Amino acid sequence: MLQVIYSEEFLDHKTGIYHPEKPARLTAIVDALKTASFAEKITWKLPTPVLLKPSLMSWIENVHPTTYINKVKNIAASGGGYLDGDTPISPRSYDVALLAVSAWLDGVDIVLNTADKSFVLARPPGHHAVIDTGMGFCLFSNAAISAFYALQQPEIKRVAILDWDVHHGNGTEAIVETHSEIAYVSLHQYPAYPGTGKTSQQGSHHNVLNLPVPPGSDITIYQPLWERKILPFLTDFQPDLLIVSAGYDANANDPLAGVNLQPEDFGLFTEYCLGITQKIMFGLEGGYDLPSLAESVIATIQPCIG
Ligand SMILES: [Zn+2]
Repeated sequence: MLQVIYSEEFLDHKTGIYHPEKPARLTAIVDALKTASFAEKITWKLPTPVLLKPSLMSWIENVHPTTYINKVKNIAASGGGYLDGDTPISPRSYDVALLAVSAWLDGVDIVLNTADKSFVLARPPGHHAVIDTGMGFCLFSNAAISAFYALQQPEIKRVAILDWDVHHGNGTEAIVETHSEIAYVSLHQYPAYPGTGKTSQQGSHHNVLNLPVPPGSDITIYQPLWERKILPFLTDFQPDLLIVSAGYDANANDPLAGVNLQPEDFGLFTEYCLGITQKIMFGLEGGYDLPSLAESVIATIQPCIG
């Protein structure tokens, strides 16, 4: 079974009506899940409120310096502003970003403490946030924070982060690349924003696998990369938990990139993941064409429901 972690508070991170990373992304997915054929097999959960998770700040501070965390807090408190040209902070963005991290940690707890999988429907996304600043629509590194959080459990020795967002997760990679107990795998368009993710970037412990694909790539390019590169790499790594940075901007209809995947292709990706481990959580990253975004989340979840 699968638990979806979602709160309407995630709609309160306001980015402006012309910004692609908008609240309607979440409501499109929620509407699709409520009417999906498997709707009754999903359990909906609210994220743990920030005030009820005393350790939350320490997990964020484990990755980001307090100077940066306070910068986000202060920009929000002063009425909002921008971290960079495309990364706005609205008055509630700081609180919402903390709640998003809480939701991702809940996603870890569900997978580690039950037989269920989890899908975290939160925003803002996180994979571009580097140690000392957010960028590219992202404020805090949800996936990396979650990986370190999972590793606190003695029985969790290795965590893999698989990032199928069309953009390279430069932030996630920068944070985890020196940690041998965390693997980072990214499939991304190259060249594209943010310009990182070359094959030669392999991490300090050969724990990073970057698989750039050219614009125009479709499933016939992705499938061999899964079968010849990702599956051997992750099978060898043997993760106790697989965190999927689930972005859906590699869809053909997506306005922000030029890769030509179809929503059903993400169902195949989930099938591949299930061949590695049953301990899987998904967390939303990008994806900006609302119909294909919603269809892709449905396709991702379907194989988990059985
Ligand atoms: Zn993206």
